[in-house]
Amino acid sequence: MLIDRHGGTGFKLTPQRLAILEYLDGNTSHPAAEDIYREVKKRFRTMSFATVYNTLEVLKRHGGVLELTIDPERKHYDPNTAPHHHLICLKCKKIVDVHTDFKINIPADQRQGFKVTGNHIEFYGICPECIKERRS
Ligand code: ZN
Ligand code: MN
Repeated sequence: MLIDRHGGTGFKLTPQRLAILEYLDGNTSHPAAEDIYREVKKRFRTMSFATVYNTLEVLKRHGGVLELTIDPERKHYDPNTAPHHHLICLKCKKIVDVHTDFKINIPADQRQGFKVTGNHIEFYGICPECIKERRS
């Protein structure tokens, strides 16, 4: 669990940071910093956007969250740091997880000496809700 991994050294657990961690823990909606700020501010009137942003930066450095760049307009954050892929709706920018191991690799003659340790595939399309809206 996210909170346990960061209660220890190097990360001062202030009440504000704890509220951010609690909001992120188990969250699969891939929120942007603005989404996190909006939600956590409901509980913490004194929360500042800078606190949210700085906490995300620290978590990112400690490997507690992944920063997703699938949406060119805003960075999104994912507390699930296990390898998985993402699918984004080009219309509403909803991001969902794809938990399939595609077993793809770079052919040996294309690896340019790299030891390849992972991959992240970004799929895009239109979600069911947006397809429905388009038809009505
Ligand atoms: Zn959509
Ligand atoms: Mn994810």
